[in-house]
Amino acid sequence: MSETPPHDTADVLVVGSGIAGCAAALQAAREDAEVLLVTKAERPTDASTDWAQGGISTARGDPEALKRDVLAASDGTADPDAVDVLVREADAAVEDVLLETLEIPFDERENGAFDYAREAAHSERRILHVDAATGTHILRPFLNYLDDHERVEVRQDTAVLELITHEGRVHGVLTDEDATGHPVYAGATVLATGGIGALYLRSTNPEGATGDGIAMAALAGADVADLEYVQFHPTAFDGEDPFLLSEALRGEGAVLRDADGDRFMDDYHPDAELAPRDVVARAVAAEREATGEVVLDVQTLEGDFEDEFPGIAENCRDRGIDGYQIPVAPCEHFLCGGIDVDHDGRTSLEGLYAVGECTRTGVHGANRLASTSLLEGLVWGLRAGETVVGCEAKPRVVDAPTLRDSDPALPERFAAEKFRRLRRTMAEQLGLERDPDGIARASAVLRRLKGEVDAYTRTRTSRELYELRNACVTALLIARAAGENAESRGCHHLVTEESTAAESTADD
Ligand SMILES: Cc1cc2nc3c(=O)[nH]c(=O)nc-3n(C[C@H](O)[C@H](O)[C@H](O)COP(=O)(O)OP(=O)(O)OC[C@H]3O[C@@H](n4cnc5c(N)ncnc54)[C@H](O)[C@@H]3O)c2cc1C
Repeated sequence: MSETPPHDTADVLVVGSGIAGCAAALQAAREDAEVLLVTKAERPTDASTDWAQGGISTARGDPEALKRDVLAASDGTADPDAVDVLVREADAAVEDVLLETLEIPFDERENGAFDYAREAAHSERRILHVDAATGTHILRPFLNYLDDHERVEVRQDTAVLELITHEGRVHGVLTDEDATGHPVYAGATVLATGGIGALYLRSTNPEGATGDGIAMAALAGADVADLEYVQFHPTAFDGEDPFLLSEALRGEGAVLRDADGDRFMDDYHPDAELAPRDVVARAVAAEREATGEVVLDVQTLEGDFEDEFPGIAENCRDRGIDGYQIPVAPCEHFLCGGIDVDHDGRTSLEGLYAVGECTRTGVHGANRLASTSLLEGLVWGLRAGETVVGCEAKPRVVDAPTLRDSDPALPERFAAEKFRRLRRTMAEQLGLERDPDGIARASAVLRRLKGEVDAYTRTRTSRELYELRNACVTALLIARAAGENAESRGCHHLVTEESTAAESTADD
């Protein structure tokens, strides 16, 4: 074999610097592996983890109660074995990493006990939080801790573009550290690349959420599952530059009102504002359509809005909302499915692991319970970090492919225009409600778009073009999954002629 060109090696390579990637890196380093964590984030804020508001669920000593709530929110579709893993390990993971290692200052009551919050579809107060800015308070200390760890190297502003595969095994990745692709060979590669919000016109996610890990894994032949279950949050700010109004607001007493000032959630679910997310999101959309506006009334909160939710109050003021009636609309928020993994984050490809929002662990089924995503990332990150040790990098087994030289000037315009088309298609046909014809039309548009992107990238590359390619691939996979699932359940809500007829008969 010829001399190996410049490259890096690591026992364990983690891609992504949210809670899931950080947890995997931490645990692998604790097990004495040399860990390289690469992230395209330029700042810690470029990860959904940093934006998480409401908090992280614990089991608060009662795993069975949490399990019941997770299963109920998923409408019975979550995998009970995966949920068992989550609920059994929840308290120990929070204690070990967040309380003992990172010493996160979760909010306490005056008596020094934790101020556990309640959120929609939780039967108990069990959510740890710091104000309503929990993600920031977890992620920044986590990254600082890893930065100081002698076995971990963190490389920011470094995008992974392709997986290096050979005979069905993943041997590492190509990053964009040089124009023709910089190989990083690894014994184990852990994808922790987060969600897909950038595929939609309105999303609560950071703009880097382009589905990279899902697309790269699928292109390499890994199994993916449950991709039709795209979760829409019921209460994002209804206007330019949407932001999230945490579920914790409704958990603490905020209510939804239509344009006439009337509450309506009682008509949709016995738990009213505390019903599962998919139910509330569809109700908000329906009332907004019928009456013109829906507001979240925060005057009914048990505590003071400004004191309890200062970050959200500031976001409202920045957008000119001074009162207690905040206009809301549903908005893409989370992907319940993703790269199919087992309880230790193993994918169907040897050498490839995945954790966090880019995966389908089975915990969420068709609809996720609030504040279980940070927990899932933490628990699966730790489990994968423990599983991956002992895999040695083999840089000379396979030569990494090289990329074409990049031409950064043109792609930006091309990528922006194609992204616009992709987002419009996803929002119109693969949103809160879908119908089979719309899904088929979306698939056709997305296939054409992917063809145009493939043709264009035959002669050029750039980070943006890879993100666009990944967005196209992931969008197509979502459309395909939606087209193949004829059952309306959770976040995959099908509106067919029969269902509309059945609804109007019921109304009669
Ligand atoms: C506004 C908001 C509020 C939320 N509130 C809560 C909450 O209160 N409780 C809760 O449990 N969940 C909440 N969630 C959901 C939760 O925050 C996310 O699901 C979770 O943080 C995902 O963690 P992750 O580590 O999988 O991904 P992320 O935190 O999104 O991190 C992904 C990382 O991968 C990097 N990356 C992506 N592609 C590449 C690539 N090609 N190369 C290199 N790096 C790459 C990104 O830069 C980023 O660093 C919220 C989400 C949002 C957006």
